[in-house]
Amino acid sequence: MFRSVQFSRSDTAQVSAMVAHLARVQWGAVFAAAQKGPRVSCRRWAGASADNVYDVVVSGGGLVGSAMACALGHDIHFCDKKILLLEAGPKKVLEKLPETYSNRVSSISPGSATLLSSFGAWDHICNMRYRAFRRMQVWDACSEALIMFDKDNLDDMGYIVENDVIMHALSKQLEAVSDRVTVLYKSRAVSYTWPYPFSMADSSPWVHITLGDGRTLQTKLLIGADGHNSGVRQAAGIQNVSWNYDQSAVVATLHLSEATENNVAWQRFLPSGPIALLPLSDTLSSLVWSTSHEHAAELVSMEEEEFVDAINSAFWSDVNHTDFIDSAGSMLQSAVAFLKPTRVSARQLPPSVARVDARSRVLFPLGLGHAAEYVRPRLALIGDAAHRVHPLAGQGVNMGFGDISSLLHHLSTAAFNGRDLGSMSHLTSYETDRQRHNTALLAATDLLKRLYSTRATPLVLLRTWGLQATNAVSPLKEQIMAFASK
Ligand SMILES: Cc1cc2nc3c(=O)[nH]c(=O)nc-3n(C[C@H](O)[C@H](O)[C@H](O)COP(=O)(O)OP(=O)(O)OC[C@H]3O[C@@H](n4cnc5c(N)ncnc54)[C@H](O)[C@@H]3O)c2cc1C
Repeated sequence: MFRSVQFSRSDTAQVSAMVAHLARVQWGAVFAAAQKGPRVSCRRWAGASADNVYDVVVSGGGLVGSAMACALGHDIHFCDKKILLLEAGPKKVLEKLPETYSNRVSSISPGSATLLSSFGAWDHICNMRYRAFRRMQVWDACSEALIMFDKDNLDDMGYIVENDVIMHALSKQLEAVSDRVTVLYKSRAVSYTWPYPFSMADSSPWVHITLGDGRTLQTKLLIGADGHNSGVRQAAGIQNVSWNYDQSAVVATLHLSEATENNVAWQRFLPSGPIALLPLSDTLSSLVWSTSHEHAAELVSMEEEEFVDAINSAFWSDVNHTDFIDSAGSMLQSAVAFLKPTRVSARQLPPSVARVDARSRVLFPLGLGHAAEYVRPRLALIGDAAHRVHPLAGQGVNMGFGDISSLLHHLSTAAFNGRDLGSMSHLTSYETDRQRHNTALLAATDLLKRLYSTRATPLVLLRTWGLQATNAVSPLKEQIMAFASK
């Protein structure tokens, strides 16, 4: 009964399908939403007791679902509402901050930090640990082309935070509103039943949820935050454009050869995929290396010394350079220097890596996904349930946090005005807001992934000149930074 649209076509066909899909959802969202109704099974449901009826149920307590429940719980207009967070896994408790850093970290944008601050979670993160970065250097392994993002006023560009630390902060803030937000851990939702679109004497107007242990609940609004294989999305019959990339990401915690200021996020595009080094402390950085599945498996199983050599060589080696591209690149660079003699960022070398934390190497297969609709009556999708993106832009969880800000804004206004939370009138506004932002990011990230996966000379030349030109035009760079920091 659960079906996603899986594309197993060539790359070109995938790009066209994605572009067609993105264009359709962007312009069609408003019209489609106006005609929406549940296209799935509806069931009569007698004997509902008020005890098990919630105003909002969030299904999925990952980073995004937990933050959504927190944001609702701390919103003044929700003070008289009953909210439930369902999480299939156990509660993750971080009694004491471990000395060893976790290998799962996220680059958190200033916009996401503002959201986390709005309900007090950022304070917990600051009291535990995070690393701010002030610059980001992105460069091509096939040429000298690079782009350097930095802030003149020394503002932070973003923060590298362990996922466990974010989750701990969210759990603390959920505990602070336990009078209005109930959290059920080890509670998997196994089925969802949608109300009839018209009212009937013996039918319930709410969404019904059955848990794995047989318990049933009802909600006026169901928020699906259950990840990229979302059961909520599938049960609602919402189409999902998705494909698997030919890459997996290897993550690890790395020790640098010497202590540095370590406030730069580095990313180099190799023909096999991007490799990123994200600062954790003066002497530690986190690795996210996207590469072919076979190479990723090799990287995870090779000897530590060999792994460290492979990382240093991936960042430092010029083996993919060609004289032709280097000369064409220097020509444009000279022209830029002539026209704009000030402030041309020179390529800097990232710190060298000395060793890797034992057992910190893990791989994750990568893919793209986008739900054709984010909302239905009494239903909204957020986070990876609505969109899954390649980690090269470090935007997955930030997009999810952006969904929360937007949905919270629309729901809070609805609650203030005494409106039905599950009504399409405000859910559609959320969908329109977020699809506009998310489709642009998904398309840009997918395009970058494909553009940098080739050694074909015309494309290498195109991206070399494109990157050099973008690096020289400050207003364009500022626009990119503003978009990514939301
Ligand atoms: C290698 C890598 C690096 C990344 N780096 C970054 C980065 O730097 N910055 C960034 O912004 N993003 C990054 N991302 C993306 C980011 O990790 C994800 O976008 C984010 O974790 C998605 O969170 P989520 O809560 O939407 O989904 P998930 O993390 O998948 O959480 C879903 C939750 O729902 C629960 N669940 C599922 N089904 C049910 C059910 N039926 N009932 C109850 N509960 C259920 C699951 O147990 C899970 O806890 C990265 C991803 C990868 C793979």
